[in-house]
Amino acid sequence: MSTDPRRFDVLIVGGGHGGAQAAIALRQKGFAGTIAIVGEEVDPPYERPPLSKEYLAGDKPFERILLRPLAFWAERSIELLLGRRVVRVDADAHRVETAAGEAFAYGQLIWATGGSPRRLTCSGHDLPGIHGVRTRADVDAIMAELDEVQRVCIIGGGYIGLEAAAVLTKFGKQVTLLEAQDRVLARVAGAPLSAFYEAEHRAAGVDLRTGVTVDCIERGAQGGLSVRTADDGAFACEMVIVGIGILPAVEPLLAAGAVGGNGVEVDAWCRTTLPDIFAIGDCAVQANRFAEDARIRVESVQNANDQAATVATLIATGEAAAHAALPWFWSNQYDLRLQTVGLSMGHDDVVVRGGMATRAFSLVYMRRGQVIALDCVNVTRDYVQGRKLVEQGASPPRERLADAAVPLKELL
Ligand SMILES: Cc1cc2nc3c(=O)[nH]c(=O)nc-3n(C[C@H](O)[C@H](O)[C@H](O)COP(=O)(O)OP(=O)(O)OC[C@H]3O[C@@H](n4cnc5c(N)ncnc54)[C@H](O)[C@@H]3O)c2cc1C
Repeated sequence: MSTDPRRFDVLIVGGGHGGAQAAIALRQKGFAGTIAIVGEEVDPPYERPPLSKEYLAGDKPFERILLRPLAFWAERSIELLLGRRVVRVDADAHRVETAAGEAFAYGQLIWATGGSPRRLTCSGHDLPGIHGVRTRADVDAIMAELDEVQRVCIIGGGYIGLEAAAVLTKFGKQVTLLEAQDRVLARVAGAPLSAFYEAEHRAAGVDLRTGVTVDCIERGAQGGLSVRTADDGAFACEMVIVGIGILPAVEPLLAAGAVGGNGVEVDAWCRTTLPDIFAIGDCAVQANRFAEDARIRVESVQNANDQAATVATLIATGEAAAHAALPWFWSNQYDLRLQTVGLSMGHDDVVVRGGMATRAFSLVYMRRGQVIALDCVNVTRDYVQGRKLVEQGASPPRERLADAAVPLKELL
């Protein structure tokens, strides 16, 4: 490594939600030392959720999804070192090195690298016309091709795949969505919500198929693509969008000796096992009190922001409360606004509040009689009032929960 690298008191690797928020919060907490963000993307920090929503739909230009105006960073003396990928961490020397061979030294390092989209491994996975959805560049590449595309095959029925399906259907594209599991959203939501969204997408014209695994992708006729499935199906299209999760971007940290695997392990203050190195956001594995202290990665803006706040407070003031923020999340598809609070994993009962046919209802997830999470579709009131039920692990009578006429705040 270079013998005389530039040094920052706090060096943040990754300029997404977590990294940007860590820098912002450090200054808000009065931290006066030097701060830099080293980020692989060339764009200044921006919001990622709109990429599969308003940005893809063309409803919001890039300037409107910037996390802060460009001038903000210079005004706060937060240096943006963009277009640089960190490939090596030397924890003893407190240095990092980029792919281009540049070195930076740090007092404290905040690793906020998120993850890269999982790719298909089957033959044809890298043909032109196959896209992931993680960065602005990914979505710009999709948008640049869309005029020439009539049929889109989306692989993966998680939130990103479903949101993309909703936008592309509105554009008049013919959308096929293939999900390997027996229902969409299987990893994150209960069966009634999956069934609801499957019906909504089919009603909108999406050819949605579950229990279907992709075997290979081939070049089809006239330059198109053909997605072949294990059950001998073949779906002709001009574009494939793959939304099958992420792989946390932690290789350099693990190579430096940090404990981890599918993410890097952190304690309740987001400290890794390496000295002066924190990790936050999608790449961090942490015990979560809303998952019975299971060690998990939470992939949400809320989690990245709240972990950033914990680390910034600790660095700026020398002490911080352990991270224990209540998880929340949202998804927009068609005219449906889903708001989620808590973590539904491990539920043993689901109460449906309100009629799903009205397209305004909530699912209340229970574990051993206690409320652990809510999925609220077009019912913001339940989302707001339900937070306290989750926070307090309330155990209201089932029939009262199921009665949408009873405000949740009365069930505390
Ligand atoms: C299309 C889409 C829609 C989403 N919708 C929602 C939603 O509705 N609600 C919600 O709560 N969450 C949503 N999410 C998830 C949310 O965006 C993430 O949880 C959040 O961005 C995590 O923040 P992060 O800082 O951990 O990672 P990111 O925001 O991904 O930032 C990580 C940054 O680090 C950079 N990086 C990676 N490796 C390196 C390296 N070695 N060196 C330098 N830089 C590096 C990356 O290029 C990236 O810019 C969505 C995500 C996507 C992709």
